Amino acid sequence: GRARGLSRCRGTRGRQARDGVVRNGRHRTVLVAGGAGFLGSHLCDALIAEGAHVLCLDSFLTGRQRNIQHLARDPRFDLVEADVCDPLPTTLERARVDAVFNLACAASPPHYQADPEHTLMTCVLGTRHLLRLAERSGARFLQASTSEVYGDPEMHPQREDYRGCVNPTGPRACYDEGKRAAEALAFDFLRAGRVEARVARIFNTYGPRMRADDGRVVSNVVTQALTGQDITLYGDGRQTRSFCYVDDLISGLLRLAAVEQRPPGPVNLGNPVEMTVAELARRVLAITGSRSNLVRRPLPVDDPQRRRPDIGLARRLLAWEPQTPLENGLKATIAWFADECRWAELERPA
Ligand code: NAD
Ligand code: UDP
Repeated sequence: GRARGLSRCRGTRGRQARDGVVRNGRHRTVLVAGGAGFLGSHLCDALIAEGAHVLCLDSFLTGRQRNIQHLARDPRFDLVEADVCDPLPTTLERARVDAVFNLACAASPPHYQADPEHTLMTCVLGTRHLLRLAERSGARFLQASTSEVYGDPEMHPQREDYRGCVNPTGPRACYDEGKRAAEALAFDFLRAGRVEARVARIFNTYGPRMRADDGRVVSNVVTQALTGQDITLYGDGRQTRSFCYVDDLISGLLRLAAVEQRPPGPVNLGNPVEMTVAELARRVLAITGSRSNLVRRPLPVDDPQRRRPDIGLARRLLAWEPQTPLENGLKATIAWFADECRWAELERPA
């Protein structure tokens, strides 16, 4: 079974405020579920930089210790190892938190399809447990939803009022339908006045700390280019995505959680610059100077053909839009992966 219980959790009350955000004489305490993952660990960094006290909750299903290792000795960081499908550990049940960010859920298709039942339960039971915790604490709640709620969209670009075209029984359903159910739960709690809940529909995001083995297109193409392996294009490579750099996405999440004006519904967060997957591969080849060949692989079932966010709502409500050009974001990501590849080589037995 997966790791359960509490590995390390110090009390969160009664600590002297030293710097940063202080509320009622103490640091603002923020729970980040999925905080050891790619996006979650960047969110923990940003919250600590803002002066918050962070409780990171993670089962390490796809997250990694090394993503949060640099925070381990920070007095404003605590780690709770638990699966959100289970009732929350008692220390958390009693914790007083000001905000809850729910990012706990495997996000790459191979990972979320490895145990679809667990993925769906993570979205439904996990979100319920965290909403109830937010309710008890009077905390704000931010749900990390996804552009996958639009499925293979017939409306382009995707605006928040588009209801999507999701196959409810296909291999992606555990994630797409799970995230749709999590949105429904969040809005039920909001309507009932139980929790100030917000929903971010996150579009494809990339950057340092993605897993080399997570099967997503940016991590695959970058590691393939760096190691001279063939670059795998699924289908004809003409399907499109819009790629947002992680720092931009995190600033959007923080703004959405903080904004006083309640959004009319879910808010898209992503980069509206759309490109084909083949074009992304060409850009990576150009930056790395790699001589890898492009090879075709079958298109996965239900793979969306086009995807681009309409971010008009985020612009108006949050005064937010991505700042990082793809070229800069890719360079930072490639530099990080190059370092990772070197480490992997050093660690490989001779
Ligand atoms: P990730 O896999 O790196 O992070 C997910 C984290 O959640 C991991 O640390 C994992 O161990 C943890 N987790 C998974 N199931 C859990 C469970 N049952 N209990 C406790 N912890 C659990 O993925 P990511 O890219 O950082 O995605 C974070 C969130 O953002 C996810 O909810 C994902 O659906 C959403 N999202 C991400 C993207 C993207 O492009 N990265 C796009 C849309 C939505
Ligand atoms: N893809 C690809 N080669 C890969 C991995 C993915 O061509 O090695 C394609 C995939 O079929 C999809 C797009 O790239 O059309 C984005 O895939 P990813 O898994 O990153 O995200 P999602 O499909 O969830 O948007």
